[in-house]
Amino acid sequence: MNIFFSSILFLILLKGFVSALLEWLNIQELRRKTTLPQKHKKVMSAEQYKKASAYSLEKSRLSLSMALFETAVILLILLSASIAKASGFLADILAPLSQNTILLQSLFVIAFSFLYSLFFSPAALYRTFSIEARYGFNTTTLSLFIKDMLKNTLLSLLLSFLLLSLIFLFIQWFPQLWWILASMLIIIFQLTMQVIFVPLILPLFNKLKPLDAGPLKERLLHLNKKVNFGAKNVLVIDSSKRSRHSNAFFTGFGKAKKIVLYDTLIESLSVDELEAVLAHEMGHYKKKHVLKNFFFSAGLSVLIFFIIQQLLANPAWQKSFLLSQNSYLIAAEVMILLSLVASSLGFWIKPLFSSLSKKHEYEADFFAYQQCKGAAPLISALETLHRENLANLRPSRWYRFFHHSHPSLDERKAALLSY
Ligand SMILES: [Zn+2]
Repeated sequence: MNIFFSSILFLILLKGFVSALLEWLNIQELRRKTTLPQKHKKVMSAEQYKKASAYSLEKSRLSLSMALFETAVILLILLSASIAKASGFLADILAPLSQNTILLQSLFVIAFSFLYSLFFSPAALYRTFSIEARYGFNTTTLSLFIKDMLKNTLLSLLLSFLLLSLIFLFIQWFPQLWWILASMLIIIFQLTMQVIFVPLILPLFNKLKPLDAGPLKERLLHLNKKVNFGAKNVLVIDSSKRSRHSNAFFTGFGKAKKIVLYDTLIESLSVDELEAVLAHEMGHYKKKHVLKNFFFSAGLSVLIFFIIQQLLANPAWQKSFLLSQNSYLIAAEVMILLSLVASSLGFWIKPLFSSLSKKHEYEADFFAYQQCKGAAPLISALETLHRENLANLRPSRWYRFFHHSHPSLDERKAALLSY
């Protein structure tokens, strides 16, 4: 085992340990802070605070177990050379059936990812039908859950097959420069998804309808015009058929831009509050956060494909990472290896992106403050959302440093009141 491989294994192990430790710190904090502080009495009642703490406690316990479980699964796969074994096994059975290496490699990656995701499906079931259900959030039926799962699987099979076969084709045709073409492909794919997500993909799962005429629509379209956002219409989706949690988002660019509101959000917020939430979302767009995030993820794709290229060009590295040598499935093996390792390595730069994202949140809040002539509507919207989603009002400092992409309610309120 070379030093490079052992360092990566060490970082994966350390990530598992630190993730579990962060959840544990959160659990300790929740156990210690059992009384509702004076400053939060406006946000929720003592009864709701108790319920929110119990809810956060259960979510943290599940995340702690999953962090340890995931680390064990990844280490087991890497140390037992399972990727090479699976590849050898597949090569033996599939080779007589087809000589098409593009097809075989794509199927290998898809089958491996599918089997890997099966390890984590019991936790997803437990989260939805036990935790979310007991705290009154889940509205999904088992039949809807299964239908969603089938549709999701089919859709991701189709899309991954399309992308993977093109990438493997690039590797075959342009062994030196394929990684540039693959990065371009992913960037074009992400841009296309921005445009087709709402009109083509979302309707497979939800019913979408234009927001009914009335004061809310007038206010939102007025805001849209005032900030020169450029969306043609506001759409509402029936998210309440799955969960009581609420949200709003927008997708697309140029003429294809669309604002989408969850029906649960419209139920829980007033017109003023909804306008403030939408102004915050538009703030992300107007302050170019969306563009910055897009360039960041494009840069990340280039980096990942470049690393894959380095591994493909270096048989000694393939050996030290316990991959097979001289296998015609090697490109698929390297891709699986990277997808297993990426999230564990990405964890260490998470605080950097969390802090950047927090900066963006303050900027978007400031934008909403300017558009709504004051802090009151956004503050009361944030308080309502924290209450209705049973948010943890006092997570541990270290947990926030690593995981939270948004400043805490107290921090956002303090900033909004200081403008
Ligand atoms: Zn935001």
